[in-house]
Amino acid sequence: MTKPRYRRILLKISGEILTGDRDYGIDPEIIRQVAQEIKEVVSLGVEIAIVIGGGNIFRGMAASSKGMDRATADYMGMLATILNGLALQDALEKIDVDTRVQTAIEMREIAEPYIRRKAMRHLEKGRVVIFAAGTGNPFFTTDTTASLRATEIGAEVILKATKVDGIYDADPALHKEAHKYEELTYLDVLKKQLKVMDATAISLCMDQKIPIIVFSLKERGNIQKVVLGEKVGTEVRG
Ligand code: UDP
Repeated sequence: MTKPRYRRILLKISGEILTGDRDYGIDPEIIRQVAQEIKEVVSLGVEIAIVIGGGNIFRGMAASSKGMDRATADYMGMLATILNGLALQDALEKIDVDTRVQTAIEMREIAEPYIRRKAMRHLEKGRVVIFAAGTGNPFFTTDTTASLRATEIGAEVILKATKVDGIYDADPALHKEAHKYEELTYLDVLKKQLKVMDATAISLCMDQKIPIIVFSLKERGNIQKVVLGEKVGTEVRG
């Protein structure tokens, strides 16, 4: 059997994946599939921490553009990530994957608060740790949360699972001639203003030399392929 390329990974799952073909919310079938893929990677002995987004339920920026106070809207967005986190935990536990949810905003009745050392201990024990509520601060995104938590827990890579199979020079849904990049540097992403992750998230990864692999979750088995070192999606590194 091929040896995994990584020992500890940070998987970023955007909220929009969870909607499937709906406009809003969580598609139970999609979350079951995602959980199954995660289980396959756990069985390779890879430690997995997950940062989950909330865009399928609520996005702070969108609400604030319609007149809502930005900080309040962002707190609502962070709560949305907790809904997704609990749904993913449920789906994973249904298939016997041990998990812990840790929230950056305390909610002790339903999840642990974020404690770095505790998160690392869970990972060492083979549990999947789901980080919810982003960084706990408004004006940030769950992409920034992914780079922050990856740095804190010593993850070797960020796997950013999206609906698109990599990074393109234009939106492939709108432009047929859009070109997909195989590899990019952090500076390329910043200079070309590619919409991979926000600049704060990219800058932190650049400082910490954490590679980012952007790939599609629509294709079955992709997380495992990336973990086993197959060329999937686009890799961003120094
Ligand atoms: N958010 C925030 N601080 C954080 C992380 C998230 O305020 O540290 C809020 C923000 O309003 C964001 C929402 O939570 O729009 C949902 O997260 P995001 O848009 O990053 O989710 P994704 O696009 O991955 O689904």
